[in-house]
Amino acid sequence: MTDAEIAPTTAPGVVPAAPAALAGGLLVPAQGSGPEDTRRHNLSTILTAVHHRPGVTRAELTRLTGLNRSTVLKVVAELVEGALVHEVSPSEHAGRGRPSSHVYPARDVAALAVYPDLDAVTVGVIGLGGALLGRLRRPTEGRARPEQIVSLVSQLASDVIAQLPEPVVIVGVGCAVPGLVRAADGVVVDAPHMDWHDVPFGAMLSDALGLPVQVRNDARIATVAEAVFGAGRGVADLVYLNGSYSGIGGGAITGGVTLRGRDGYGGEFGHTRVDGGRERCHCGRTGCLETEVNLRRLLAALGRDDVDLSELDDELDAAQGRPGVEQEIDRQIGILAGAIGDLASVFNPSMVVLGGALGSLWSAAPDRLAAAVAADSFAPMSGDLTIVRAELGSRVHLVGAAEIFMLAYLRDPAQLAERVARLRQEA
Ligand SMILES: [Zn+2]
Repeated sequence: MTDAEIAPTTAPGVVPAAPAALAGGLLVPAQGSGPEDTRRHNLSTILTAVHHRPGVTRAELTRLTGLNRSTVLKVVAELVEGALVHEVSPSEHAGRGRPSSHVYPARDVAALAVYPDLDAVTVGVIGLGGALLGRLRRPTEGRARPEQIVSLVSQLASDVIAQLPEPVVIVGVGCAVPGLVRAADGVVVDAPHMDWHDVPFGAMLSDALGLPVQVRNDARIATVAEAVFGAGRGVADLVYLNGSYSGIGGGAITGGVTLRGRDGYGGEFGHTRVDGGRERCHCGRTGCLETEVNLRRLLAALGRDDVDLSELDDELDAAQGRPGVEQEIDRQIGILAGAIGDLASVFNPSMVVLGGALGSLWSAAPDRLAAAVAADSFAPMSGDLTIVRAELGSRVHLVGAAEIFMLAYLRDPAQLAERVARLRQEA
């Protein structure tokens, strides 16, 4: 399987140009010169667009992809024949609009998504179109060993599939891990908070489930999810930053392509140094962003040991005006703003998406953060920079993990159709 991680962007009207191009905001593979290459390219472009925008009309597909009407008609027909999409005629579709068919991804094609975190493991089923069809979460006690997680995942996977209202075919597995993951072979090189080191987790999961598996760092996966289905939908250049109990993770998308780096480690923004930082980080350095803009330090100011992240907004709201808390929020916002200014200089994004505790920090003082970024940036880089909060909440890792797995198939829909046909027959 090829492994260029590509996220879509919306740039309606952008016409593809060889070798790799934005088409309808979707970065598509090199077209090649033969008719087979053209066919694969067109199938990929249309299926990806339908996957990212379920219910898109044929007229919109023409506009988004730059393919002409008769090509769109032919390609959609081929995808319908392969049972990867289905069409709903305008009269069947609720609401009036232009008389053009709406195209939806097949309802029964799905990937499993797996997310082992510090205190629980979650398994979800994600359909084409990014729909979360089912999810089960099981708390784990203490630091679970990889073998324990794999056996829990097997159990949860069969349970969650059995509970689905309609049968699906599972084409593979995407897995998000809070640690450094070598993309090529799914080895978790270092997940310090789980105490996993050089764990061949992808291979272990694949053996247990009998399915192909892709494993990536959780923040990189969340970056893709937010860019495809969340706050950054349609944005070609964005930086994502997430704060949690395990620190700060992130990722970047430039020109519609996710930052990966040689081994897939690119985007460890939590371990970039910030001004005045004195604390030692678990990575061995001193003054990392994640030791300064830090959830535990925020909780200490609030006088709390532990807060469910979904309740952090309310906690900060209730503490408004408390000097110690305001001071700590201001301190963290100032440092975060400097880091965002640095990232803006490196990546020149049009959007910064903040997730988890960083979303709460932004929400506590959105104007203060924006002003601090503007004051602490090289002006041309931050002038039109939008800072927003992540949208996908607790499903971000599942949706993103499934997306990472589906990317290779989205590039070759004929192969996906073949596999789906075989799996449907076996079912
Ligand atoms: Zn560090």
